[in-house]
Amino acid sequence: MPKYAESTLASILEAVRSYYPEGRTELIEKAWHFAEKAHSTQKRASGDPYILHPTDVAQLLAELKLDIASIITGLLHDTVEDTGATLEEIAELFGSEVAELVDGVTKLNKITFKTTEEKQAENFRKMILAMSKDIRVILVKLSDRLNNMRTLEHLAPHKQQAIAQETLDIYAPIANRLGIGWIKQELEDLSLRYLHPDVYYKLAKEISMKKAEREKYIEEFCDTLQEKLSEYDIQALIAGRAKHFYSIWKKMERRRAELDQVNDLIAFRIVVDNITECYKSLGVIHAAYKPVPGRFKDYIAIPKPNGYQSLHTTVIGPFGERIEIQIRTQEMSQIAERGIAAHWKYKEGRFDLRSRENVEWVNRLVEWHKDLKDPAEFLETVKIDLFAEDVFVFTPKGSVKQLSHGATPLDFAYAVHTDVGHRCVGAKVNGKIVPLRHRLKSGDTVEIVTSPSQTPSKDWLKIVKSSRAKAKIRAYIKQQERDRAKELGGEIFEKQLRHYGVSLAKLEKSGDIERAFEYFGVKTMDEFFIHIGYGRITPEYFIEKFVPKEAIERQKEIQDKKHAEDASFLKRVIQSAKRRTEGRNAITVANLDDVLIRFGRCCNPLPGDSIVGFITRGRGVTIHHATCSKALDMDQDRRVEVAWNIRKAVESGHAIKRNVRIRILSLDAPGLLALMSQTISACSVNITSANIRTTKDQKAIAIFDLEVSDLGQLQKVTQALEAKKGVIAVERTRS
Ligand code: MN
Repeated sequence: MPKYAESTLASILEAVRSYYPEGRTELIEKAWHFAEKAHSTQKRASGDPYILHPTDVAQLLAELKLDIASIITGLLHDTVEDTGATLEEIAELFGSEVAELVDGVTKLNKITFKTTEEKQAENFRKMILAMSKDIRVILVKLSDRLNNMRTLEHLAPHKQQAIAQETLDIYAPIANRLGIGWIKQELEDLSLRYLHPDVYYKLAKEISMKKAEREKYIEEFCDTLQEKLSEYDIQALIAGRAKHFYSIWKKMERRRAELDQVNDLIAFRIVVDNITECYKSLGVIHAAYKPVPGRFKDYIAIPKPNGYQSLHTTVIGPFGERIEIQIRTQEMSQIAERGIAAHWKYKEGRFDLRSRENVEWVNRLVEWHKDLKDPAEFLETVKIDLFAEDVFVFTPKGSVKQLSHGATPLDFAYAVHTDVGHRCVGAKVNGKIVPLRHRLKSGDTVEIVTSPSQTPSKDWLKIVKSSRAKAKIRAYIKQQERDRAKELGGEIFEKQLRHYGVSLAKLEKSGDIERAFEYFGVKTMDEFFIHIGYGRITPEYFIEKFVPKEAIERQKEIQDKKHAEDASFLKRVIQSAKRRTEGRNAITVANLDDVLIRFGRCCNPLPGDSIVGFITRGRGVTIHHATCSKALDMDQDRRVEVAWNIRKAVESGHAIKRNVRIRILSLDAPGLLALMSQTISACSVNITSANIRTTKDQKAIAIFDLEVSDLGQLQKVTQALEAKKGVIAVERTRS
């Protein structure tokens, strides 16, 4: 690349005119004066006026033959961050395109890199590309970085090392992927100088010591090559040069070799007119010198993902040394130097972002990547357009997490750690508290607030975006359900065995348990309990397997006798209806499906009553009226959220029938019971039992057990009864 001894406004203008004669360079002049004024009070660390830095950056961009907007951006890139200039002002003076580019560079400058771990570096590179929707932002940033590296000597040593490390981790690879070989090499060499000064200066010394010798060698070998090629009428430009320090050092590291063992310090480059001559030249060279096996690479037939094309070979030289040779055309040479910038075509003074060449370039990067197995390969990161799908955010410690577009703090929490996700109660984004459903943007710093008592809820599934978070939440809920079901199932099973006087130890000994497991298709006790807990294996069903017939019969007799005792003459007026505890289907228990539901007999709640649920020994979840005194005495740790869900019951095809008892105080009069029964029946309510007694003061107290669907129906019955002559009061009783 042409290097100007000193960059000035004049040298920038000269460079631009050389490749873009009709460009409106007066805007560049205006921008330079604007920047000079804005930075007038600032000095660089070297003591030089600050304007030298943006001037140098703009010069580099001109050397890359970029468009005028990019060069103006180079001049203005530090004004918004470091001076009083605003984006509005820049938009007004230089147009919105420049303002957007300056904004992009300013945003990149705000990112600080705190970790150098390999994976992190990869993420940072991706983030930089993601945040720069316009590739020119990156080209300006690379030029900025190159100039900062060139002037790094003026900073304190710890700053030098930090900046050099970041350059090596982030910016040199980006330059490489964009195919701008010379920027990559210079960034690497400068980084080496500050990270490993001993290595750098030793190499510099040894290489310069042999300089005369090397130059003579280069000259002689170039002449020889030239001769051999011209025998075949091949016109070629041939040059030899020492390879850059960083690549020599890497090679020494890889081979654990000292410098004098590294023979191939020099690389020769042959530039010819066309592709045919490339292959012809290769043939001539291989005929003259013995090629080193395995070292020939045809990047013409298969270009590197960044667009680089050349033939590479290593041959054994006249003194038995290895010589690396690259063969390429003029055009390939351009691409090797300018990378992506070489592909970008002008259209009316602007880069044509959608030109066929550019689209092809990006597509090739993406295509290439598809065949790569190593996910760390950069190419995924050069999707550019495809990048809209990802969001890159920081942890408070400065690591980067890659999330999908639309991700929320909950997704982030699960990306950090499953436990952080499970315990997440809130989040701060850039220091501000946000709701869990807040959408994250690239560059956000996210801090998660956790609480040990927090657990995931089903609602979270509607908030999270990533499949990882969804899977973790589902797994947690499922495990919770299983745990509860297992506990319930175990309690139900033991209670039933006790009821029939069967001992578990005995069952295990006799092998009955094993036989039953086979019958039920379960393998372990836990699995068995889970099935009971979920109600898939009902008590009636398993009792049959475990309890001797006689014991069941005996229990049945006891029950029947009890029922017979209960029967009274009044039952004749009662419509035949079995006593049931219907309505289980109308209850939703938080986070639990298919759980066994019972209603507390103490309070017997109706749909419409406010209710609470408790996990009860052997009975699943018991539902109580919210004000039931027994419920208040329960162990609050066993409390679960419950709600009426009439629609659920209706959809499952179950009409709701709930038992309720009412007490009617009336005057004692003949036919009273019949009247009350008719009144109740007229409200379409079944009576399951009735009882009446008279008091000494000529009054009667009737107790009715009814089946109602909900609170509303009960109120209807109560009002109808109260309207009857002789009825004094109707009340719902809880026992
Ligand atoms: Mn700068």
